[in-house]
Amino acid sequence: MQFKVGLGYDVHRLTAGRKLILGGVEIPYPKGLDGHSDADVLLHALCDALLGALGAGDIGELFPNTDERFRNISSLLLLEKVNNLVQEKGFKVENVDLVLLAEEPNIKAYKAEMRFNIAFRLAIDESLVNIKATTQEKLGFVGRKEGMAAYAVVLLQKAKS
Ligand code: MG
Repeated sequence: MQFKVGLGYDVHRLTAGRKLILGGVEIPYPKGLDGHSDADVLLHALCDALLGALGAGDIGELFPNTDERFRNISSLLLLEKVNNLVQEKGFKVENVDLVLLAEEPNIKAYKAEMRFNIAFRLAIDESLVNIKATTQEKLGFVGRKEGMAAYAVVLLQKAKS
C-alpha cells in the first residue's frame, strides 16, 4: 500500500462587507474573510494539504488570484477540482484533520454541515473528516480578530486498480 501525507496552512484578513464562509457554510458574523475567491480559509488549507500530498504545488499556482474565473468562486468548487486531481493521480483521501484558528465566532453549530460539505466533495465518509477550532487566547492577529488561519493534514492512499 502506498500512502502520501500533506500539510496545508492559510491565513485571511477579516474585513467588513464580506460574507464569512467557512467549510462551505455561510456563518452569521459582522465581518467576512477578504480574498479573491470566497476566502474560505479552512478549505484553502485543505486544498493545499491535498496538493502537498500529491506533490502538485499549491492553490495559488492552480487558481491564480489574477484569474477572473476564480473571483468570489465557492472554494467548494476549488476543492472539487483538487479532488479530481487526486483521483487522476490514482489516489483517494484516507482522512482529513483540520484546525481553524479564530477568536470568534464559535463554529460548533456549523461543524456538521462543514464536515458534510467536505466529505461530499471528497467522496468519502463524514467520519473521515475531522474539524477542530481554537481561539488564540486574544494573542496575535487572530486574537485581535484581524484575521483567521487554518491548518490541514491529509492522508492519501493509492486507490486499488
Ligand atoms: Mg487562501
